[in-house]
Amino acid sequence: MQLFVKTHDGTQSLCFESTQMQIGELKEEIASRLSIQSQYFYLTHQGRCLNELSTAEESGLHNGSSIHLIPRLPGGGNREWMSMKDKELAFKHNVDKMVCRRCYARLPPKATQCRKKDCRSTDIRKKSNNPNK
Ligand SMILES: [Zn+2]
Repeated sequence: MQLFVKTHDGTQSLCFESTQMQIGELKEEIASRLSIQSQYFYLTHQGRCLNELSTAEESGLHNGSSIHLIPRLPGGGNREWMSMKDKELAFKHNVDKMVCRRCYARLPPKATQCRKKDCRSTDIRKKSNNPNK
């Protein structure tokens, strides 16, 4: 079976010979060919997300089908697979903040007063870092 893989920029397309290959295995092969990590993208066909445990035939793929590669855009910080640089950036943007107790505005870490024009409250606190909230 021949499958076409289109990346998110729409220019690059690759061909694969796949018989009874699982979608997860196909994904790993695409990741190694494009030299990107497999957790940073997922595959769709005709607008539907492909299940990694099912085979190409079960997913409705046939000869000449095209699969779209959709990049994941994970947020938050302190994920084990993130690089230190990304962790640092996520921490700076999402965790290291102050919050106004009156209007819940997110403020820079050194703020002493709310930045909102109608608030200007000095009653601010450090943003809590509970990931379950
Ligand atoms: Zn405020």
